[in-house]
Amino acid sequence: MIIVFLGAPGSGKGTQASVLARHLKIPFISTGDMLRKEVGNSSVLGLKAKSFMDQGGLVPDSDVISMIKERVTQKDCVSGFVLDGFPRNSVQAKAMDRAMMEINKEVNKVVYLEIPQAVAIDRISGRRVCKKCRANYHIKYSPPKAADKCDTCSGDLYQREDDKQETVIKRYQIYLEQTKGLVDYYQDRLVTIDGNLPIGEIEKNIGDKLKVAVS
Ligand code: AMP
Repeated sequence: MIIVFLGAPGSGKGTQASVLARHLKIPFISTGDMLRKEVGNSSVLGLKAKSFMDQGGLVPDSDVISMIKERVTQKDCVSGFVLDGFPRNSVQAKAMDRAMMEINKEVNKVVYLEIPQAVAIDRISGRRVCKKCRANYHIKYSPPKAADKCDTCSGDLYQREDDKQETVIKRYQIYLEQTKGLVDYYQDRLVTIDGNLPIGEIEKNIGDKLKVAVS
């Protein structure tokens, strides 16, 4: 089963995609996480990607497409995978279709998490991430017990450069201009979910619609 998650930045797609992947026992693949790792390693791709990411822009299609093709053709993806953050535009969606056709597969379902713009922006600008274990918090909705420290590993929490207010607005704009249209592209396999509900309820609704046991 190959599942793509679509939604605005802040829609919760990373959280829900990783939970679903765990239930299905298939890899969770986030292009944002992969790129942040490249940046952390100061690889050639990382150094190139950083400037686009810090400004809230998209990393060039050719780089992201090569990176994802390399990843999804690895052995652990043979029974499927859940994608978060890819595709981000129609060039990437078409490249994905072609790559999957070559190995006799296809994107089976596309989960679209729908949320109002104000909620998306509020969620991202309050997000804090643990430097050590990458756990996510929100200053209002899921604050850590001790200020700026991770509950699990005591690592320092920080705000992603691209989660800062000005950048968030740019990322949202790019989402509207380039990504949202994929809802039409994938109309025949789209599952629309209200993303403005408590996390557990969203998880259950996704499970019900995809007929995957989530408890
Ligand atoms: P995310 O964690 O999905 O919000 O991604 C963080 C940043 O990584 C984005 O703002 C982009 O700069 C970059 N990025 C992630 N996925 C892609 C993609 N599919 N195409 C281009 N850039 C991407």
